[in-house]
Amino acid sequence: MDFEYTQRSKNLQTQVADFMDKHIYPQEKAYQEFNEQHLWQNFPELESLKEKAQAAGLWNLFLPKNYGHLSPGLTNLEYASLAELMGRVPWSSEVFNCSAPDTGNMEVLAKYGSPEQQERWLTPLMQGKIRSAFLMTEPAVASSDATNIETSIVEEGDEYVINGRKWWSSGAMNPHCKIYIVMGKTDPNADRYTQQSMVLVPADTPGVKVIRPLKVFGNVDSPEGHAEIELKDVRVPKENIILGPGRGFEIAQGRLGPGRIHHCMRLIGAAQRALELMCKRVNQRVAFGKKISDFSSIRQDIAQSRCDIEQARLLTLAAADKIDRFGVKGAKDLIAMIKIVCPQMTCNVVDRAIQAHGGMGVCQDTPLAQMWVYGRIIRLADGPDEVHMYQLGRNTVKQYNTL
Ligand SMILES: Cc1cc2nc3c(=O)[nH]c(=O)nc-3n(C[C@H](O)[C@H](O)[C@H](O)COP(=O)(O)OP(=O)(O)OC[C@H]3O[C@@H](n4cnc5c(N)ncnc54)[C@H](O)[C@@H]3O)c2cc1C
Repeated sequence: MDFEYTQRSKNLQTQVADFMDKHIYPQEKAYQEFNEQHLWQNFPELESLKEKAQAAGLWNLFLPKNYGHLSPGLTNLEYASLAELMGRVPWSSEVFNCSAPDTGNMEVLAKYGSPEQQERWLTPLMQGKIRSAFLMTEPAVASSDATNIETSIVEEGDEYVINGRKWWSSGAMNPHCKIYIVMGKTDPNADRYTQQSMVLVPADTPGVKVIRPLKVFGNVDSPEGHAEIELKDVRVPKENIILGPGRGFEIAQGRLGPGRIHHCMRLIGAAQRALELMCKRVNQRVAFGKKISDFSSIRQDIAQSRCDIEQARLLTLAAADKIDRFGVKGAKDLIAMIKIVCPQMTCNVVDRAIQAHGGMGVCQDTPLAQMWVYGRIIRLADGPDEVHMYQLGRNTVKQYNTL
């Protein structure tokens, strides 16, 4: 693997970094204050920021070049450093139309959607006009094993009728969220991995009821939110099924690869910024007669964080490169590795930065608390750590099974 970024990637890195300096960092405080005061409303400057990013060509950069005319033409490897820059300010990804869960959902539609589904939903998503949610997890069953999902999708005439209860539907509280990708079972008697299907459900379909926003460590995470949603006799036309009945598991595997690596790329950016903030802070403060940066335990923390970030970054670049060359399936072990490593790494690095900031580290005056939460939730979302370890362990052992 060539570790040198391409010239195109370097140029875009400069452009994204300049955009962040000029348009994103200066808005951080205002964004936070607006969200504290206005529940489930989008920051008023967001649309004009999106227009600026689009005009600068910094738009949909996540969609790799194998999607042809839909893609701006980057590889996953080229995108990695750009997503890292966006991860320095968690909400900034949306400005570039590169935010979760939309990137994963757009990739599903680009990869598996019919031309009609693409025109109806992918086009406005790629234009940044609407947002989307992915409804897989259910409160009643251990959803880290997706074969447990119980929501029923029953064929009736030229419609599917959906019944079930979902939760942790990220983004579903956002007023711009207009479409859900819902996973359920079309045939509970089929083989374990072909019982599931995915259907497109417009958010305003009768029978869809948003029950409540779930709190994450006491915060509702407005304006995206994570909704609990009831689906009661929800009817959609049969054309809304993606790829066909029984293909849900296959789509889930295809979706979660890109979704996971994008989170990892952003997490590395968050960790990198946390380290930079930590270094600046300990250079400025004096305790017990010397700069905090002169204490050896602090230097060790800084050195350890730098090692942790660089290891995670290189592993993530290796995963991106492997996806580019062998597809998500060919890169599955590396994707599991980064999903295990990056969220925990972010928690560790950010925790050291919080400690070095003293009380300031846990309050709203730095983005550190929010970054720690981001790392912590990704240890669960898109598959808990243990599940990735379970599967990676299984794949690894298998390689040496000579019996
Ligand atoms: C903030 C946030 C956002 C989310 N966004 C979405 C979303 O947009 N859409 C969506 O569908 N879901 C979403 N999720 C749900 C997330 O994907 C699930 O929480 C996760 O898959 C775990 O499922 P579960 O909560 O049912 O836990 P369970 O399946 O009940 O698992 C509980 C625990 O059991 C342990 N465990 C499970 N399997 C194993 C194993 N093989 N070996 C060892 N231990 C194991 C793990 O510690 C695991 O955390 C989100 C979750 C969070 C917290």
